[in-house]
Amino acid sequence: MGKLTKPSIHHVALRKRQEIAKSTMAFYFDRPAGFTFTAGQFIDLSLPNLPTSDPEGHTRALTLASAPSEKQLMVATRLRDTAFKHMLAEIPLGTTIDLEGPFGQFTLPSDDSRTIVLLAGGIGITPFRSMLVEAAHHKLSHHLILLYSNRHQEDAAFLDELETLQQENTHFTCIGTMTSPNGGTETWEGETGRIDPVMLRKYVKETETALYYVVGPPAMVDGLRKMLESTGIPRTHIRSEEFVGY
Ligand SMILES: Cc1cc2nc3c(=O)[nH]c(=O)nc-3n(C[C@H](O)[C@H](O)[C@H](O)COP(=O)(O)OP(=O)(O)OC[C@H]3O[C@@H](n4cnc5c(N)ncnc54)[C@H](O)[C@@H]3O)c2cc1C
Repeated sequence: MGKLTKPSIHHVALRKRQEIAKSTMAFYFDRPAGFTFTAGQFIDLSLPNLPTSDPEGHTRALTLASAPSEKQLMVATRLRDTAFKHMLAEIPLGTTIDLEGPFGQFTLPSDDSRTIVLLAGGIGITPFRSMLVEAAHHKLSHHLILLYSNRHQEDAAFLDELETLQQENTHFTCIGTMTSPNGGTETWEGETGRIDPVMLRKYVKETETALYYVVGPPAMVDGLRKMLESTGIPRTHIRSEEFVGY
């Protein structure tokens, strides 16, 4: 889906912050002139004047959750108790931040002949939101099935938007599943429990030939890869990206 471009450093202004799920925020930036990327790629975001010392430094890898066809750049992250996240959540709008990228090759293939199964755990939804908005925008013919796991409904960033996207893109199916459906504040009537072989077979007819994209915290990615391999899916059919740091 497009040509990968050479990474470079840009100074961008933070324009908007929006709570998109429990303790989860989206950050919107001006798009630098000439900045191009492919859905699924990530950037390194740096806060140059981090006042307190953060053991992990002043840079984090964050996936562009915005689609290339959208005007602004957007990243989304769980807010946690680190100096970097506190500052990102508190700096005044208009503050200039350093953005380096785009990086990575976790992107959709141009070949639309195989079903693509997107498996997301929690904030691992970010590259898929970009891919899915882009696929709908360009009316891609790829057959895309998203299985999106969270503890509670209120943790599931972009879920409403992605469910609605199914009306725009009839090649796309969105399945949310909550592993602790009764522990949240909202009532959930969809799938429950972890993504397992039974759930996979229920929604994916071509399990053997499909391509699998897996994203989330390392432990979740490891668990999902093992689950896929246990159902006989060859490793060569699985691509994954780990959000190290969770
Ligand atoms: C390619 C890629 C894309 C990502 N996209 C997103 C995204 O879209 N949204 C998002 O929220 N997060 C994303 N992440 C994770 C992100 O970079 C942060 O690590 C995460 O948000 C946690 O940041 P933090 O400040 O809360 O915790 P941190 O201070 O970063 O880390 C918390 C814990 O993780 C450990 N840790 C941190 N980095 C590493 C490392 N490289 N290796 C081993 N241990 C480490 C620390 O020692 C600490 O114990 C991505 C990571 C990668 C590699």
